[in-house]
Amino acid sequence: MAEVILKPGREKSLLRRHPWVFSGAVGEVRGRPGSGETVEVLSADGAWLARGAYSPRSQIRVRVWTFNPEESVGPAFFRSRLTSAVEVRALMKPGGDTDCQRLVNSESDGLPGLVVDRYAQFLVCQFLTAGAEFAKPLIVAELQKLVDCAGIYERSDVDVRAKEGLGRMSGTLFGSEPPEAVSVRENGCRFLVDVKRGHKTGFYLDQRDSRACLARYASGREVLNCFSYTGGFGVAALKGGAAGAVNVDSSRACLDLARKNFELNGFSAMQAKNVEADVFSLLRQYRDLGRLFDIVVLDPPRFVDSRSSLMRASRGYKDINLLAFKLIKPGGLLFTFSCSGLMEAGLFQKIVADAALDAGREARVVNRLGQASDHVISLNFPEAGYLKGLVCSVW
Ligand code: SAH
Repeated sequence: MAEVILKPGREKSLLRRHPWVFSGAVGEVRGRPGSGETVEVLSADGAWLARGAYSPRSQIRVRVWTFNPEESVGPAFFRSRLTSAVEVRALMKPGGDTDCQRLVNSESDGLPGLVVDRYAQFLVCQFLTAGAEFAKPLIVAELQKLVDCAGIYERSDVDVRAKEGLGRMSGTLFGSEPPEAVSVRENGCRFLVDVKRGHKTGFYLDQRDSRACLARYASGREVLNCFSYTGGFGVAALKGGAAGAVNVDSSRACLDLARKNFELNGFSAMQAKNVEADVFSLLRQYRDLGRLFDIVVLDPPRFVDSRSSLMRASRGYKDINLLAFKLIKPGGLLFTFSCSGLMEAGLFQKIVADAALDAGREARVVNRLGQASDHVISLNFPEAGYLKGLVCSVW
C-alpha cells in the first residue's frame, strides 16, 4: 500500500482524530496511489497514524477511514461503519410518523464523503470525495444488504466533486428508480420530494426539529415563510393550527411542489399561499405597505462559502433580519437561521441583535435551534455542525 509521510509536527490533528490531511502537511508520497485508493499515513519519524483515501487533486489530500492499524478498508469495514450509523438512527426514534431521515452523515459517521438519506422506501446517496467514489461499489453492496429498500439512487451531481477531480453523476444504483415525486411523512406532515432533481438529496431534512418547533408556536397565527423551498415550514405551521401561511421563494419549480404539498395536507388556497419573489425586495415591499405577520421564518441559502465572503454575508443576514423584525406584530416571533458553517453561532446572534436594535424592536431568544439529531456531529469533527437558528419573541 502506498504511504503518505507527513512533514515534521503535522501529525497533531490526526492524533486528535480529526480525519483530514491537508496537502500542505504532506512531506512525501511513497508509491503511486490512484484517486481514492487507500494509503497509510505516517508521521515524519515513521510512526503509523491512520489509513485513509488519497485524493491527488484535492487540498484535503487524505481523508481518514480508520485510526485502527488492525482495521483493513474492505467489505467488513464498510459493513461495520454503516451498521453503527444505522443503529444510532434507530436509537433516535424519529417518531412513528416520520419516514425520512439522514442515515449516514459523512465524516461524523466515520465515512468521509458519504451521505445517505432515506425517503420512505428509497435511499438517496451522495459520494462527494475521491475515497467515497472509489468505495462506491462496496458501499452500495453493503447498504442494500443492511437496509431494506426499494431502490438506491445516486445524487452526486454537486459542484464540490470538482475539487476532487470528479464529475457530476446521478442515477439508480440498485433496485427500482424513484418516481418523479416520492411521498414521505415527517412529524405527521406529508411531503412530495423530488429526489432526482431537488436540492441536496431532495429535502432539507436538517430542519425537521425546527419545523416541529414552529408547529408548536403556530396556532392561530399568520406565518410568512421566507426562502420556503418546497414549503416545509409552511406545511408544519398550518399543521400546528396556523391561521395562514405564505411561502416565498424565487424558484417557480420549488413553489409548484410547495403548492402540491399544501394540497396533499388538505390546506386550501385561502390559508396557504405561494409568492414567487426575491425575499430581499418582497420584505421591503411589505415594509412599505405596512403588512404585518405574527411569525416570520428566515431560512436563507448558504451566504458564506469562504472566509472572504463572511463580511458580505453578514450584511445579507443583517439586512433580511432587520426587515423581518419590522414586519412582526408585537408578541410575534422570528425564526431565523444560518446554514453557513463559517458563520459562528456567537456572530450570528450578534447580527440578529444588531438587526433588532436597528429595527427598534425588543427581542428575546426563546429557543435555540440546530440541525436535526440524525445529522450527527463527531466530537473530532466540529465542522459538521453548520446549522443554527434562533427563535425570538419580538416586542
Ligand atoms: N426552509 C426550506 C429550505 C430553504 S433552502 C425548507 O425547510 O425546506 C433556500 C431556498 O431559498 C431555496 O429554495 C432557494 O430557491 C431560495 N432562494 C435563494 N435565494 C433567494 C432569494 N433571494 N429570494 C427568494 N428565495 C431565494
